[in-house]
Amino acid sequence: MLIVKKFGGSSVANYTRIFNVAKRCIEDYKNGNDVVVVLSAMGDTTDDIIAKTEGLMAEAEKVTGKKRGEIPKPPKREMDMYLSIGEQESVALMAMAMNALGVPAVSLNALQVRMHTTSVHQDARLTGIDAERIHGELDQRKIVIITGFQGVDKNGDVTTLGRGGSDTTAVALAAALNADKCEIFTDVDGVYTADPRVCPKAHKLDEITYDEMLEMASLGAGVLHNRSVELAKKYGVTLVVRSSLDFNEGTIVKEIVKMEGTLISGVASDKNAARISVVGLEDQPGVAFKLFQHLANHHINVDIIIQSIGRDGTKDISFTVPEDKVDEAVKVIESHHTTSLKYKSIDVNTDVAKVSIVGAGMMTNPGVAAKMFEALYDAGININMICTSEIRVTVLIDEKYLQKATQAVHDKFF
Ligand code: ADP
Ligand code: ASP
Ligand code: MG
Repeated sequence: MLIVKKFGGSSVANYTRIFNVAKRCIEDYKNGNDVVVVLSAMGDTTDDIIAKTEGLMAEAEKVTGKKRGEIPKPPKREMDMYLSIGEQESVALMAMAMNALGVPAVSLNALQVRMHTTSVHQDARLTGIDAERIHGELDQRKIVIITGFQGVDKNGDVTTLGRGGSDTTAVALAAALNADKCEIFTDVDGVYTADPRVCPKAHKLDEITYDEMLEMASLGAGVLHNRSVELAKKYGVTLVVRSSLDFNEGTIVKEIVKMEGTLISGVASDKNAARISVVGLEDQPGVAFKLFQHLANHHINVDIIIQSIGRDGTKDISFTVPEDKVDEAVKVIESHHTTSLKYKSIDVNTDVAKVSIVGAGMMTNPGVAAKMFEALYDAGININMICTSEIRVTVLIDEKYLQKATQAVHDKFF
């Protein structure tokens, strides 16, 4: 069998854990399997790298005597150069640990594997993987340890796939190598009905469909990178999410699951949301098209959208974007103010959060949304915006109520 095993940052946070992971991988190897390991950076390394660039920028303020907004931000290309160090450290240490245990292992980074991506730094998409090098190493009976999260673009520059992107590396490798198994090891023993850190009553799911998992991941369930689920669905890679710290069964993510008779699979919450309202837009055809086209050109994802009814020749459009994109989004809109987009003002609120319910069961059962709204009403929480699809309902609320809302909604359904 060819097995791809991915371990997140907490699973390789220190030397003890590195050896724990090494031993788990060696067990599969000694059972005659080909083993490919994908690693994230150790512990909080990625956060620490970002914090250090913040430190550099604070120094830049002192050196230039300028305010932060007046100094150019670190180029995303250079951020990727720096971010990619984290994964390079963990794979090299893992190879050393395995060698210390007497098992031949080799670490490879994205350049060595030729993990091709687009050139959108910090949010690159994988476009293809050359598998020969990996097969060559496996043929020599080595465990192959590969950097998650990073890639290389057509210019040979290092890119990264966005926070949490190592899951996507693992699934892409599993697809490219036609692996028999893709296991995602993390600090929880599976996918739960809500983030167990936010909602202690959440319980583990045995199985979940790709579509539901994709919605959960996109709506804030950080246990899997959403693009990893997209890729898994596209290439039919069955995923198992499980803990690196115990041997519990975990959750299987696949196309079809046994119906458990529940209305919803889970509740997801996301505080990385901001609401932008463009007020007093011209009430004419093409205005929404232009607004969202400009944002799409800058790779800014928009989620909930509400347009008011036109009055006196104007209308308002409100929408949500990830909070870390809000400044960029506002700048993009402002840059078109006097040309293609005429409006009165822009209003921004970053103190908002999204709470969503996800489940295929709601397609055939009326009243699911009402039940969610009732839970929020009972908890005294006001809804700012609502968005629905066939298998999800999302509400935007004040961020301070995130935990209360998640628990109230979860307890209503489970
Ligand atoms: P890793 O570093 O292993 O990739 P992450 O921190 O990215 O780990 O993902 C694991 C975390 O995801 C858990 O600790 C948990 O708090 C969070 N999480 C959010 N939603 C869920 C969910 N529905 N089920 C399980 N974990 C969740
Ligand atoms: N180390 C990266 C991050 O923290 C990638 C990952 O962990 O998946 O976002
Ligand atoms: Mg992760």
